Amino acid sequence: MKVAIVGAGIIGVTTAYELAADGHDVTVFERHGAAALETSFANAGVVAPGYVTPWAAPGMPGKVARYLFSRHAPVRVCWPVAAHELRWMMRWRSACNLESYLANRARLQRLAFYSRDRLHRLTEDLQLEYDHSRGYMVLLRSERDRKLVQPGLQLLRDGGIKFEEIDAARARALEPALNPDTEFLGGLYLPDDEVGNCRQFALLLKNQAQALGAKFEFHCAIAPLDPAQPTSLRITREGDAAPTTSARFDAVVVCSGLASAALLRPVGLRVPLAAVHGYSISAPIREPLNAPRSGVMDDRYKVAISRLGNRVRVAGSAEIGGQPNRKRPEAIRTLYKVLQDWFPGAAQLANTGAAVQEWKGARPMMPDGPPVLGATHTPGVWINIGHGSSGWALACGSARVLADLISSRAPDLDIEGLGVERLGG
Ligand SMILES: Cc1cc2nc3c(=O)[nH]c(=O)nc-3n(C[C@H](O)[C@H](O)[C@H](O)COP(=O)(O)OP(=O)(O)OC[C@H]3O[C@@H](n4cnc5c(N)ncnc54)[C@H](O)[C@@H]3O)c2cc1C
Repeated sequence: MKVAIVGAGIIGVTTAYELAADGHDVTVFERHGAAALETSFANAGVVAPGYVTPWAAPGMPGKVARYLFSRHAPVRVCWPVAAHELRWMMRWRSACNLESYLANRARLQRLAFYSRDRLHRLTEDLQLEYDHSRGYMVLLRSERDRKLVQPGLQLLRDGGIKFEEIDAARARALEPALNPDTEFLGGLYLPDDEVGNCRQFALLLKNQAQALGAKFEFHCAIAPLDPAQPTSLRITREGDAAPTTSARFDAVVVCSGLASAALLRPVGLRVPLAAVHGYSISAPIREPLNAPRSGVMDDRYKVAISRLGNRVRVAGSAEIGGQPNRKRPEAIRTLYKVLQDWFPGAAQLANTGAAVQEWKGARPMMPDGPPVLGATHTPGVWINIGHGSSGWALACGSARVLADLISSRAPDLDIEGLGVERLGG
């Protein structure tokens, strides 16, 4: 089948690889000049399936309200808030009941475990060499933090997920560079989880897809789908004298992150996606002995610190509303504070010229949590969108499922609740 993919983020690239591996004639269109330049660019890199949970959870609305008055709040509503963001918040609020939470959590975790297996299989079979390290630790500063994670631990036990409750001494043995001056209670250690560089993986897998015949057309923006001819794409090539051309395909897969909602609106699909912004800083490691060995998460500030090769990345914050292109200095300061608290000597922060990268990204988030993937009601139009805060952890599995569905094969995964029917009429 002749298949077009719109978007070369981690979701579009993994989808392109799986479809090309199945023998389809694949063309990926990307408006930027390279893959993974938007949300897949500098995320925390955490792949921790047991921790992939919906943000629409019982008790969350109260927490968000309390955070409004906190300086280092991990979640924030920023001014201005657009009408579609207000509608999103109302849908999010109504998905915070226990029944919806448990159903969405089960859907996400099934997909996350399946995805991790697929990530490992691809890494091994294709010998992909990208920066990654095994093990993930959740750091708990106080008894209060420990109490707050207890309900989540029961869910990890119920799911048969391997983890250890550890004291501070064991945490220091596992991560010897933890600041000796920072007092804390202990944490959780998940030996099977990992951190990895999402962008590097995307670039390597793109090469593999190309080796299988997939074509990547960069600097090509796709217009919203035409309801009369939805699989005929209108393509604007940057720099062309005759700017817009069109090309017809047997199938189109929309993997366009946040922009997906606008592309799909003309064919009658209303996807309640909102941008939940976050930040990361990435810096060269100054002294490896002072740097983390793998990934840690400060549970109080919801900030992850990841070892990615010879760099350390610190990522966190969740903001809805505000100005997309403005980096909020307080959010960035929180990242530096958390890095300083745990690994003060890890990063080369001064005298590096442009080497410290400060980044803001927009998670393409569904209000209830899980992504939406599969066929739409429009023949030939498929979607793989809305992976929110876990697109890297969910990408390889989502792509495999999508490729199976396009080839009319039953996926090796229960996909109840992941299809367009969840969006309602
Ligand atoms: C601070 C932060 C930390 C995160 N940490 C983690 C983490 O630890 N683990 C994890 O699993 N996930 C994490 N995430 C989430 C993860 O990064 C996203 O879920 C994932 O990158 C989404 O991938 P995507 O391919 O859907 O979107 P994108 O990467 O945004 O890709 C979409 C692509 O489509 C292209 N496009 C859009 N419209 C068009 C058009 N009309 N024509 C052509 N091209 C188009 C865009 O240019 C873009 O390249 C984090 C996100 C943030 C912001």
